Amino acid sequence: MASSEDSLRRALADKQSAVEAQANSVRALKAAGAPKPDVETAIEALNALKLQKASIEKDLQAAVTGAADGSAVSREAFRQAVLNTLERRLFYILSFKIYRGVAGLYDYGPPGCAVRSNVLAFWRQHFVLEENMLEVHCPSVTPEIVLKASGHVDKFTDLMVKDEKTGTCFRADHLLKDFCNEKLQKDLTISAETAAELRHVLATLDDLSSDELGAKIRKYGITAPDTRNPLSDPYPFNLMFQTSIGPSGLSPGYMRPETAQGIFVNFKDLYYYNGNKLPFAAAQIGEAFRNEISPRQGLLRVREFTLAEIEHFVDPEDKSHPKFSEVANLEFLMFPRKEQTSGQSAKIIRLGEAVAEGIVNNETLGYFIGRVYLFLTRLGIHENHLRFRQHLANEMAHYAADCWDAEIESSYGWIECVGIADRSAYDLRAHSEKSGVALVAAEKFSEPREVEKLVVIPVKKELGLAFKGSQKNVVEALEAMKEEEALEMKANLETKGEVEFYVCTLEKNITIKKSMVTISKEKKKEHQRVFTPSVIEPSFGIGRIIYCLYEHSYYMRPSKAGDEQLNVFRFPPLVAPIKCTVFPLVQNQQYENVAKDISKSLTAAGISHKIDITGTSIGKRYARTDELGVPFAITVDSTTSVTIRERDSKDQIRVDVEEAAAIVKEVTEGRRTWEDVWSSFPHHSSVSADADD
Ligand code: AMP
Repeated sequence: MASSEDSLRRALADKQSAVEAQANSVRALKAAGAPKPDVETAIEALNALKLQKASIEKDLQAAVTGAADGSAVSREAFRQAVLNTLERRLFYILSFKIYRGVAGLYDYGPPGCAVRSNVLAFWRQHFVLEENMLEVHCPSVTPEIVLKASGHVDKFTDLMVKDEKTGTCFRADHLLKDFCNEKLQKDLTISAETAAELRHVLATLDDLSSDELGAKIRKYGITAPDTRNPLSDPYPFNLMFQTSIGPSGLSPGYMRPETAQGIFVNFKDLYYYNGNKLPFAAAQIGEAFRNEISPRQGLLRVREFTLAEIEHFVDPEDKSHPKFSEVANLEFLMFPRKEQTSGQSAKIIRLGEAVAEGIVNNETLGYFIGRVYLFLTRLGIHENHLRFRQHLANEMAHYAADCWDAEIESSYGWIECVGIADRSAYDLRAHSEKSGVALVAAEKFSEPREVEKLVVIPVKKELGLAFKGSQKNVVEALEAMKEEEALEMKANLETKGEVEFYVCTLEKNITIKKSMVTISKEKKKEHQRVFTPSVIEPSFGIGRIIYCLYEHSYYMRPSKAGDEQLNVFRFPPLVAPIKCTVFPLVQNQQYENVAKDISKSLTAAGISHKIDITGTSIGKRYARTDELGVPFAITVDSTTSVTIRERDSKDQIRVDVEEAAAIVKEVTEGRRTWEDVWSSFPHHSSVSADADD
């Protein structure tokens, strides 16, 4: 794509030079009083060149705006059509709309709620049930100490710039991204080299430090969007909503920005619940809160959203996965770090190969990437518009071993919907240190092993005399020393007799004398290896997945009369908000009774459905439910048999009244395909029944 765009930019620059040269020769011929036919021939050549230039401009415009498969429907127009349908049919509603709403807060209306429940039910089945995960449910309000330990209080920030005159805030990276995209898409005069530079900025945007971001904003002369006022340098803004727990105001807290911390702090109990065995995974579905600087992209960047998170705890020395072979042969679009920084595109890679070649750090991470791929595609996300992008070096937290985002392409571009990270032992260590509770696992040896061990014995009497009430903190800090630190202390105590020692729970340095601690190496028999587990974390933004699913499922088709475009969501039955509608063909008591009986059977079978006994034409009723993505419609046109219509093909079969509910149950639950049903029952061709369809 970029290479064809580049060659078009070069061709355009060449053609522009040719046009200018030809215009000069026309002027020269005229000035020299050349014969009229010569001037006319030169003008003809100039016009031909101008036409060729216009044609290249048109191709370039099409290449940069990315109008899907060359169709005239732009991304914006497509998005607007989807949003109009979603809003009109109450898939979502701007929260507090009668008070003009609040940016970044949305309600789910009835079909939106049903889709959300279905996606979450499938998530539970595909992950929690399949892997025997331990599901927990923790509060959203979280005390400060937890988020201090996790690093969120100090580091959960985005870089913000302010309009120097009005004080309006913007996300710095978003402004740079908009600038680059706009230049690339709307300015056809930029050279291929400038275009390549801007594309590189876009590819490495998440990798830029605050200073680098500020430098780029200055270099390109980026100003505040509406006012064109100058912007401040970028500075960090913490995204957490702060609150206080209880009336005193003395106990600060935050609305959790992710659900993961609730799992980490429960590790000890969950490990015990799991029979003190690794690996195991815990899972949580819940709301997360982030005070986004300038929420935009509609439903994609919001201030309160549902997260579904998995924390898979594993021995850092063995990250193999027993079920990896089940996903190893999957092939899909992957975008490794190397390809991104060298300006290449994402490519299809076999997952087994990606792990074997070390592109993906380990089997367990690879296993979850594969499971996420299956989850998203089974929901209805289109595989050609799904890729797994590896985090760039700066983008990834320093402690993380590897990190991949499942990105889905929508009208807004590629959107991060699931983050899959190997977070090593960072979180459990951080909470162990802050809480003083050891969040560790143990591997029991079948035979005891002799090992040389460092033994630190604080002399409590001496420490008590020197530090009185703080003695306990000092003892704990000495015992928690890592081997390297303890050996350094031992060497210093032997040469200098005393040493300065920082106790983090006291937040100060103290002096440790030789008489206060003994440090030695001893041979010991060990019966177990104690270690902090690593964590592999797949984290799903449920709202983002659902929005992308809406876009991937939406299409328009002409009405039978051809005078109208009708909206359809081709949801798989798994996610469809309602699985089936039941319509009497015409208003008549007998048909209505049959419809009610079928509705009862569907309820008993647990199939969500809607019964519509209004007198509206059948075609209009079909169109209304196609717009909600209802996959099947049962139409009652006799008292003995009914038709079942499939939404996308509009094919209809005829079945006995008594079997209708059971057939719909089988196809919605995926135990039978529509093709199978289609080949097993008589077909029904609609004449009057489907007049408007
Ligand atoms: P993170 O912890 O930042 O990796 O986020 C985890 C997931 O939450 C992402 O993959 C997104 O799908 C989702 N997410 C993050 N921020 C938002 C937001 N402001 N609105 C909606 N979803 C979000």
